[in-house]
Amino acid sequence: MHIKLLKDIVASSVGQSATGIVDLLYGKKNVNEFLIAKKLKLTINQTRNILYKLSDEGLVTFIRKKDNKKGGWYTYFWTLNLEKSLSKFKDKVSKDIEHLEQQISLKKSARFFICSSCHAEMNEEQALLHDYTCPECGELLQLKDTSAEIDQLKQQISKLEESLSGVNKELDIVMAVEAKKRDRKMKNEKKKILAERAERKRQRLKEQKKLVSAKGKKVKQEKSGKSSARKK
Ligand SMILES: [Zn+2]
Repeated sequence: MHIKLLKDIVASSVGQSATGIVDLLYGKKNVNEFLIAKKLKLTINQTRNILYKLSDEGLVTFIRKKDNKKGGWYTYFWTLNLEKSLSKFKDKVSKDIEHLEQQISLKKSARFFICSSCHAEMNEEQALLHDYTCPECGELLQLKDTSAEIDQLKQQISKLEESLSGVNKELDIVMAVEAKKRDRKMKNEKKKILAERAERKRQRLKEQKKLVSAKGKKVKQEKSGKSSARKK
């Protein structure tokens, strides 16, 4: 996992100043917010503001514990949500790519005109309105060659696609780990249920045995009572 990638994700949702949190939370679980505040040299309120924002975005999760030493206030413990962070970043990059592709198709479909002396730029409609002459200097407008701009946009897209495939790889790893965890949890729960069921059955059998033996004793007592009565 690239910490840099996570920092980009955090920066894009709450700003560059919060990226130090990634170093403190990465690879850890349930980190005390007072420790985070101390390490970031922020007040507890500033720290909480950042963490609440990240939590609203689903990038971090928390548990809270009542601290009786601090007058019964709650202390929050924070954990990075890797899966959510990555899938959020993936969505963002995908949208950026889509936006760039729209720009390319716009540039390909529409014609733009430019003045070679004062570099004023306009679309076909505006150019027609000005009779294909520059409204500033009167120069004849020229059809703008957009191929360089399109190339640049294409380069941006391929960069984003690269980072998208990086995110996808990370996401696959994280999701596999999460699936294993869930699997293990489910197996343990199943084991627990089976053990409980077996225990209940054992108890039931024990009760039944008690009942049978109690009945047996009663019958024996009655029998012996009868035989002794006959003797008399
Ligand atoms: Zn001009």
